[in-house]
Amino acid sequence: MTSHSDKPPYITVIGLEVHVQLATASKLFCRCSTAFGAEPNTQSCPVCIGMPGTMPVMNRKAFELSLKTAAALNCRIATHTKWDRKNYYYPDLPKGYQISQYDLPFAAGGYLDASDPKGRFPTRRVRLIRIHLEEDAGKSMHDERHGTADSRIDLNRTGTPLMEIVTEPDLRTPEEAKAWLTELKLLLTYLGVSDCNMQEGSLRVDANVNLHVETLGGLVATPIVEVKNMNSFRAVERALEYEAPRQYESWQQTGKTFQQGTKQTWGWDDTRGVTYQQRSKEESSDYRYFPEPDLVPVTVSEQQIAAIRDGLGELPADLRLRLEKTWGITPYDSDVLVSQGEPLVDYYLAAATQCGDGKLVSNWVQQDVLRTLNERGGTIADFPVGPAALGDLLTRIKQGQLDTSRAREVFQRIITDGSTVAAAVEALGIKQVDESELIALCRELLAANPKIVADIRSGNEKAAGALVGQARKRNPNANPKRVQELCVELARID
Ligand code: ZN
Ligand code: MN
Repeated sequence: MTSHSDKPPYITVIGLEVHVQLATASKLFCRCSTAFGAEPNTQSCPVCIGMPGTMPVMNRKAFELSLKTAAALNCRIATHTKWDRKNYYYPDLPKGYQISQYDLPFAAGGYLDASDPKGRFPTRRVRLIRIHLEEDAGKSMHDERHGTADSRIDLNRTGTPLMEIVTEPDLRTPEEAKAWLTELKLLLTYLGVSDCNMQEGSLRVDANVNLHVETLGGLVATPIVEVKNMNSFRAVERALEYEAPRQYESWQQTGKTFQQGTKQTWGWDDTRGVTYQQRSKEESSDYRYFPEPDLVPVTVSEQQIAAIRDGLGELPADLRLRLEKTWGITPYDSDVLVSQGEPLVDYYLAAATQCGDGKLVSNWVQQDVLRTLNERGGTIADFPVGPAALGDLLTRIKQGQLDTSRAREVFQRIITDGSTVAAAVEALGIKQVDESELIALCRELLAANPKIVADIRSGNEKAAGALVGQARKRNPNANPKRVQELCVELARID
């Protein structure tokens, strides 16, 4: 019996293929809308369903978004790229081929790092093999509601621009794979190249996974399995967690090892939490790729590439570092803030600049602002406590005019009636209590609680905490931290 903490006798080797729908208004080679959710088959035309005699014209915007992504992922960008037909038959592909890129993708090389803000695994650099552009296929809907198992075809998605990002097999754990995908999604969101909505299929992930097993004869690689049908990053993680021990068991039983050019396709069943074998994967030669005769090759100048690299702006990784360096917050905190997107980071920066205490503002944004935002819904842009108000409120805490719990009352008040910080402070009757008044109050409480005094004198300062609540009942403006301090001091002196 082996325990879970034992290291498995293999290394899990994972590579990812990510399909990203680009955020263009129209399709890749025609002017049909790409909007999600329309009535089936209302967004197609002779071009995207491949009627004879129609001619595709490339959507320049889609190409620009792709170049932006390639630049942000540190890729080499080709100055000359072309289109190819990938031929296969499927009911949701009426043309009988997909326009894609075969031997001259627009970008190659590059990398993106995955790191864990909690430091549970070291930063992993994942190299990219290539990025190419292609058109999406339609959607087959298998309707089994009436026990009939009819299949219907919706061609609205046909021809939507897709960017395919293929990584080297550089990932080693399911957790790393999830973290890397999360970072990729964040980057794509910051770049504005995709809405990355997995429920709507804007981002789809396949994982290639096999094992390197240590044997007496050296390392042995097991056959590569491509896992499909994973609808969330958590599903990717779970599928990989399931797949690695399954492959190990299978290898122990069959002894089958990796054969060049072979790959099995397995699907992920999210409900049952298992993978299951699907068809065997076509070889690329089965697709009979050939150059697309109806589209001209695309050329990009070195100057255009340089301009795209210069125009990228600050990317999430740099933004996190800036927040950590400028405002003294931890990698965990900067990750939470940056993951929320640019508007929240701007909110944070405005409040931090006003209050001057980056850590305090970070705590409030994460706890009070984000929690309230989650409960209420809406966006940070119309959140009732604006960044200036939050900065003002937290400055008052810093200056000792408010303690945390009274500040929370002010915060709630602003959310309820939209008043200013000053008006809420006034309405709640908050005023600073005189030090002499506070000393008198603490003396009274100590006199009434000799047991606590004895505890404090014997070194248990925490015992004073019991008096804080009593002090607040007598005077809600009594600063808890100061009451605690005074009680300890006075118990020793008096
Ligand atoms: Zn069309
Ligand atoms: Mn593809």
